[in-house]
Amino acid sequence: MTPYDDIAAPPSPPGSSAVRARPLTDAFGRTVSYLRLSVTDRCDLRCVYCMAEHMTFLPKAQVLTLEELDRIASAFVALGTRKLRLTGGEPLVRKGMMDLVRSLARHLRRGDLDELTMTTNGTRLAEFAPDLAAAGMRRVNVSMDTLRPDLFRTLTRGGNLAKVQAGIAAAQDAGLSVKINAVALADSNAREIPDLVRWAHGRGCDLTLIETMPMGEVDVDRTDEFLSLKDVRRELESFWTLEDLPLSTGGPARYVRVAETGGRLGFITPLSHNFCETCNRVRLTCTGTLHTCLGQEDATDLRAVLRAGGSDADLIAAIRGGVDAKPKGHDFEIARTQPAVARHMSTTGG
Ligand code: SAM
Ligand code: SF4
Repeated sequence: MTPYDDIAAPPSPPGSSAVRARPLTDAFGRTVSYLRLSVTDRCDLRCVYCMAEHMTFLPKAQVLTLEELDRIASAFVALGTRKLRLTGGEPLVRKGMMDLVRSLARHLRRGDLDELTMTTNGTRLAEFAPDLAAAGMRRVNVSMDTLRPDLFRTLTRGGNLAKVQAGIAAAQDAGLSVKINAVALADSNAREIPDLVRWAHGRGCDLTLIETMPMGEVDVDRTDEFLSLKDVRRELESFWTLEDLPLSTGGPARYVRVAETGGRLGFITPLSHNFCETCNRVRLTCTGTLHTCLGQEDATDLRAVLRAGGSDADLIAAIRGGVDAKPKGHDFEIARTQPAVARHMSTTGG
């Protein structure tokens, strides 16, 4: 009997060696199958919508060790999570990151996990892409909001666009499929969006546009830069044919195919409520707090369970308790002067 045998298990999928458990289902019948894991709050960039210029990062002792991250992620896999995304902060600045990736990749080899992916700013991708691919990663998301080196430097407060683009090329050379993420900003990159689409699609990459979210105190007023993706879509449709794709990710992304480029374009509108009923994801901060809704303050402290010497059964009970309380939906509104949620995206994991 293991802690995962809490009730009669459904048959394991072929090739699976996992001990199957009752699916992780919340009070509204939604099954959690996707965990986003923030592995650090630190970053080598300071994107204006994400961080303050002079961020105070967390003391190391508060951040989960690699072993703790592995233990919690593996508990989720045992509870039926099929997709793990490593994020941050910038995952590739975390020391020992490749050890964690290699360790978590065991779940892929055993057939207990469909996907191990990462969201990265790309600055260190040239160095790490071959190792990520060798470990079994198949896809990465790379954030790049502009094709203009000067604007990139401004938006990231000092970043080097050429490095990111070299990282994207290295990832593709290593066989990773790359999706580009770009935050849509009214004053900065709105006019560039068609060029970003052409650039990404010309390289065989999907592009996903993201609306700004009011998370954490930053130095700028995000309401000035808020750009509605409804308006972006309308503008793109004035010269391109956008064909809706039935692709459902269980998240806030809607996809279209751009007939003229042949590529896929996603719209992430987290301020809308249209995806909450099918939401299949939860987030773990780098301090071990489980958030089951990006836009709510609900929280379960899994680090406390581990550091109190909790058993796997205790950890699983805490995870189930957190998921049971997953809110029905979120409550974002960009018009507020205060952030809707006090925690930064870099701590929560975007
Ligand atoms: N450092 C990595 C990166 O930039 O890809 C991973 C972490 S970052 C927090 C994940 C994603 O969140 C990025 O695509 C970033 O653009 C996005 N993001 C950060 N702050 C945001 C905000 N306030 N609103 C919308 N997207 C945000
Ligand atoms: Fe760093 Fe990513 Fe936040 Fe930019 S969006 S500051 S790269 S964590």
